Amino acid sequence: MDLKGEFARLERENPGKSIAAYLHPEGGGTGAPARATLYYHVSTNDSVPAAAHVLDSLEDRRVVYTNLASDHWLTTYMSSQLVHMQNPAGCNKLRLWQRNSIDWTVERPAPAPGMALRVGGRFLGDAEGPIAGGGLGAMAKKVAARPALADAGGGREKALERALRYYALAAYAVISRARHHSTMLGNYVGAILVSDSGRILAWGFNSTSFHHAEVNLMLAYFLAKPGETKLPANSIVFSSLTPCKQCATLLETARGTTNSIFYGQFDSGDFGKAGAATSAKIDDVTKPVSVGGKPARTFVAGTLDTEVAKQNIAQNIGKSEAAKTLIDRTLDEIGRRSSKDRKLEDEEQTVKSAVLKHIKETLDAIAI
Ligand SMILES: [Zn+2]
Repeated sequence: MDLKGEFARLERENPGKSIAAYLHPEGGGTGAPARATLYYHVSTNDSVPAAAHVLDSLEDRRVVYTNLASDHWLTTYMSSQLVHMQNPAGCNKLRLWQRNSIDWTVERPAPAPGMALRVGGRFLGDAEGPIAGGGLGAMAKKVAARPALADAGGGREKALERALRYYALAAYAVISRARHHSTMLGNYVGAILVSDSGRILAWGFNSTSFHHAEVNLMLAYFLAKPGETKLPANSIVFSSLTPCKQCATLLETARGTTNSIFYGQFDSGDFGKAGAATSAKIDDVTKPVSVGGKPARTFVAGTLDTEVAKQNIAQNIGKSEAAKTLIDRTLDEIGRRSSKDRKLEDEEQTVKSAVLKHIKETLDAIAI
């Protein structure tokens, strides 16, 4: 059997495409099976690699052959399962594998069904958002570039800055919705993508394995946008935790010059803090939104830090009852603020009310 030759043929038939394949033995019993089927997937969207589809379709750990670059974001945690066909090291591994499986004959049928990604996230459409005239992206750039907390201006400027904090809160509220309405939630991390006019374009939460919140967010978005590789201009990513090495690599691949990334908590782990260099901690650049009212007026991240060990924040939040209660309160807080009876006398109030209403409605619809 010439697996490398088979893979090369797939590449010739699908030039420039992302390809991933795996072998499935036929028959069974003891000893090496005589036959295997080479299942494969070709991705029509470079932003959603074929290897992600194949990894998600497998119920067990096995070698996946792929033409992904070896520094692709998906290799951060999954490299032990991926063999890069053009990578000499990968070829050595392949030869080893073949020696154990000598005399197999391989059939290459049509692509296998069931290559759907297990995404803990959704794309919500990209109609106009609640902020008439937009401008959230420019405000995000301005705020993210601040060296420290600064006083907001007034009117519309102040409303847009306040809106950024509400969206940051919403990234936590996604976790609350997921924990009550999904069986997929892994680590307690949530993320949203927001348009220039304030529409929540997509949301994601951690659903284990390589499916971190930001990965699910991006997969949900790009699955709905075949052929696109960049985030929409002036859109903003909010994550409840510093993007890790994997997520930061993905975000940097997809971001343009007009995009901003904010996070809530800082993860001090070696991989965990990777995204801090290219994103802004919302608490450092805007005034905190209080959660649960008195007495502490601090953003939810600060309170969560005291509830869990600073190391392995992502893994520990879900183990703390106090942290889980606090995350649920972020959802309550958005509901409370959105139902406040405001006199819509000026532009500031109009923008804030429209944003809160949109966030509340979007969060209420999250169930997966
Ligand atoms: Zn991550």
